[in-house]
Amino acid sequence: MTSLAVAIHVRSLDQGLGDAARAAEMGADLVEFRIDRFTNDPSQVALLVERSALPCIVTCRPVWEGGFCGRDDADRVAALRAAVTAGAQAPTYIDVELATFQRSADLGRAVENIVDHPAQPEARNTGLILSAHDFDGRPANLMQKVEAMAAAPACRVIKVVWQARSLRDNLETFEVIRQKHKPTIALCMGQWGLPSRVLARKFGALLTYAALDDDGGTASGQPTVSELKSLFRWDAINAETSVFGVIGDPVAHSLGPAIHNAGFEAVGFNGVYLPLPIPARYEHFNATVDSWIQMADLHFRGASVTIPHKQNLLRFVADRGGQIEPLAEQIGAANTLTVTRLGDDGSLLAGNTDYAAALDAVCEGMGVRRDELQGVRVAVVGAGGVARAVVAGFASCGATVVVYNRTHQKAHELAERFNGSPGKVVAVPLGKICDCCCQVFINCTSIGMHPNVDATPIPSAAAMPGWGPGTVVFDTVYTPAQTRLLREARAAGCVVISGVEMFIRQAATQFKLWTGREAPLELFRRVVNEKLGG
Ligand code: NAP
Repeated sequence: MTSLAVAIHVRSLDQGLGDAARAAEMGADLVEFRIDRFTNDPSQVALLVERSALPCIVTCRPVWEGGFCGRDDADRVAALRAAVTAGAQAPTYIDVELATFQRSADLGRAVENIVDHPAQPEARNTGLILSAHDFDGRPANLMQKVEAMAAAPACRVIKVVWQARSLRDNLETFEVIRQKHKPTIALCMGQWGLPSRVLARKFGALLTYAALDDDGGTASGQPTVSELKSLFRWDAINAETSVFGVIGDPVAHSLGPAIHNAGFEAVGFNGVYLPLPIPARYEHFNATVDSWIQMADLHFRGASVTIPHKQNLLRFVADRGGQIEPLAEQIGAANTLTVTRLGDDGSLLAGNTDYAAALDAVCEGMGVRRDELQGVRVAVVGAGGVARAVVAGFASCGATVVVYNRTHQKAHELAERFNGSPGKVVAVPLGKICDCCCQVFINCTSIGMHPNVDATPIPSAAAMPGWGPGTVVFDTVYTPAQTRLLREARAAGCVVISGVEMFIRQAATQFKLWTGREAPLELFRRVVNEKLGG
């Protein structure tokens, strides 16, 4: 079973022990005491180990390997010796850099003398982790390092860590773990390394590291214990866990992980959903998604796809002979990838769940079915990606759509594309918006979005003479959940729908596609509102 280790930079005995106690309360399995900047008084190091609330790893990382200790190798090994031998309790592991271990025969022997191994004459409880860290990217001699660690009789655990250059590097950490020479820790650092940290458990690594809180942590990209356990379902992950995520750039603030992981938990589905940042350009999308799909035991089964990859998803699935939802093709953008059979290109599905979400949110607000939208007049402000999906959706139901946009030419092109499919779609200059007499009004621009929360796409509700109890006003903006447009529309007596409804419904459709189960909509709503502070 893969352990969860909390990494602690020790500055004083009290702080180190206090942090270890907190780690135990939070459900960690062990702690790594980084004594790089701690005193070199052996009795203090011995007390740290002896009184720790959890079994521990002791590490004294030199500056030249990303740590903070400026002492020479012999001094650092002496500190580790004190940690192992000076107290009543020994650490479970000490972590020594492969480079230190190999520096000289004397240093190697000094390390061997303090750990448990087949040729060790004294009784020792402490295992040796040999480690290598690369902060510039994947080391060219990665496998040589792994083999050197595997070949050293004193080495109980292999540890390799490097700065990921893309999401693809995570796959190699899984391959290193799978070789099973010895218990292994293989992790990627940085913004692309999170999957290696969360999925370490899926591939049977010895452990993963987490930080106590946002300010803690000993390596870039390390999640907190609470993120690992509560957000990414650490305790539920096993070899069969299906992997999903949100692909885009940026994705760090996506609400997708919070709602989908909560949903998996609620319905008892064995899945995990991760942020998957992929830089713009088709080549990046193609290479990354292809490699993730090809690794069969990763069980990568789908993704939400957002800016800038919505068109790339269509091309990717088309190139592999997969299925594309017809309306997604017409819209020219897809936001959902589903992999129905692993290792089979033809099993890919690209869909667009945005238009259906907008339709359902409005239908519920109006109390009608989709087939009752025929002839309903819908005003859409905006002509970007979301407007395209919304216009296509309403036109497909036979509604009459009027498009307003700052750049009128784009409104005109959008209207031309969807006019007659089968609803009528026309473009009207934005300056005439106050003459609008539509029953449904939809904002598909970013106007009113955080931080410009005082902005609104209409001059004022009073300037909209037709607005009243028979009007539905829907704002696709969901940060904040209640925009100025919605506040004014509500005051004018209109039925209002927040962008949160569209967001959770598009996610709910994805959830059903991936899990085969209905999404817990109320839970999704609660999680989103909590995250947005609503
Ligand atoms: P997009 O493709 O960049 O389109 C932006 C649209 O907003 C364009 O029509 C643009 O007009 C217009 N616009 C931007 N700033 C404006 C301003 N200051 N004055 C007038 N018009 C302005 O963006 P998108 O992908 O369609 O997303 C639009 C919004 O939808 C997002 O900001 C987000 O709030 C919302 N959204 C909601 C959900 C959901 O699930 N609820 C999902 C995705 C997006 P021009 O053509 O003149 O540039």
